[in-house]
Amino acid sequence: MDVLSSLPEATVIRDLSDLEPFLRDESHVRGVAPLAVVRPHGPQALRELVRRAKAEGFGLVPRGAGTGKAGGCVPTERTVVVDLSAWPGATRVSPQDLCLSAPASAPLREVKAAAEAHGLFYPPDPNSWESCALGGTLATNAGGPNACKYGMTRHWVLSVDALLEDGEIHTFGISSVKDNSGPALGQLLIGSEGIFGFILDATLRLTPLPREFATLLLPVKCWEDLLDLPGRLMGEGLLPSAFEFFDPAVLAELRAHGPEEARRLPGEALAILEFDERGCTSESFLEGLMDLLGPLADRLEIASDERQRQGIWAVRRMTSAFLKEHHPGKVSEDIVVPRSRLREFFEGLDQLRIPAVTYGHLGDGNLHVNLLAAGETEPGLLERQLMDLFRLALSLGGALSGEHGIGLAKRNAFLALSDPAQIRALRAIKQALDPCGIFNPGKVI
Ligand SMILES: Cc1cc2nc3c(=O)[nH]c(=O)nc-3n(C[C@H](O)[C@H](O)[C@H](O)COP(=O)(O)OP(=O)(O)OC[C@H]3O[C@@H](n4cnc5c(N)ncnc54)[C@H](O)[C@@H]3O)c2cc1C
Repeated sequence: MDVLSSLPEATVIRDLSDLEPFLRDESHVRGVAPLAVVRPHGPQALRELVRRAKAEGFGLVPRGAGTGKAGGCVPTERTVVVDLSAWPGATRVSPQDLCLSAPASAPLREVKAAAEAHGLFYPPDPNSWESCALGGTLATNAGGPNACKYGMTRHWVLSVDALLEDGEIHTFGISSVKDNSGPALGQLLIGSEGIFGFILDATLRLTPLPREFATLLLPVKCWEDLLDLPGRLMGEGLLPSAFEFFDPAVLAELRAHGPEEARRLPGEALAILEFDERGCTSESFLEGLMDLLGPLADRLEIASDERQRQGIWAVRRMTSAFLKEHHPGKVSEDIVVPRSRLREFFEGLDQLRIPAVTYGHLGDGNLHVNLLAAGETEPGLLERQLMDLFRLALSLGGALSGEHGIGLAKRNAFLALSDPAQIRALRAIKQALDPCGIFNPGKVI
């Protein structure tokens, strides 16, 4: 029997060659062939899908733009991929309420642009912001460079509309920063990676758009000199809106094979710092910063205009895709440690002798540790290397994922290394919200 026959308000894709792009995301994980891909155009499609999934025993795998890095949206056995890219709705800004409403299908770049058109700012900026969908960023609680100052996606969500296992759409939260009526259930959905239901719309908090940027390239001869810097800056009350870095290996590769802007990057290793508060381009601010940097300030370069600033960020944004193109079998992790323990982390990594290169969000301790040769590494050895890496992050008070989430890629490690009481609590919540286990089966827990 065809479990998807006459599905209302939906496009159904079944052709094997058309299903192929849905078997993967931007992680190293590949899924199995789904029963179909369904692209809903309205609530009736989802309501009916939920009903049939429960009756027929198949799973529903929510998918945004497929840029995730944890295998969260790839299909597992006997599932239907629900591609939310055609979910209807308009983006509306309310300057009085300092908020914006948008459907899950809205490209994040359009959400950010809509806010900017009103002189407002939606800070979450995963480096995939030009290609990912709002729904995916909500479901993964995406981070990005600006998380250093502005926090993760969840800090910017006022309310979410989600379709749950009863087939109905429920609204969690209100369009105000103040809503204290009991535990915030909506926050459970943020970062839930599709295991509790479909996020369909959201209302997001905005803030006035920063108008002034000091974007700095900080090249260093000895890259370990960078490791105490985030803690020192913050300890002195300086809060960059972004503090990113490339280790010597990543920088050398970018310089040798990257685009034109990358070939000009200075230093043995390099940090990108950006400040966005009023007055950050003034002489007094920059002098204070240089005093704090001491000898490191000798080779400091400051972007002189918006074109240069955008050039620097373009290189940072393409780093992940660039490394993937050159090392298709690589595994990219996103562990996090408190910024005060960065030096200990790198000393530990050295001792583990894991062949890895690193770049990422140094300012908040969230590091993209890339095992470039993972594709050629014996699977048992690779697993041991990854477990050692995760244990190291945990031993320093960190976590095995800072922003990408658990998905399929890190599920075994997450289950093995987490506090069993917390896993039990998560499973109890899953059981309460999704008793038939239809939403994103086999992911996270
Ligand atoms: C080049 C590059 C750079 C990146 N940089 C960053 C970064 O700086 N910071 C960061 O945090 N991430 C980053 N990512 C990872 C990724 O882009 C983000 O996680 C993004 O938030 C995923 O959005 P998506 O729409 O592609 O989601 P998908 O990959 O389609 O899905 C991700 C997860 O969310 C679930 N999901 C998607 N939509 C919904 C929905 N509407 N309802 C319920 N569940 C849903 C899926 O089931 C899956 O578990 C990067 C990825 C790339 C390729």
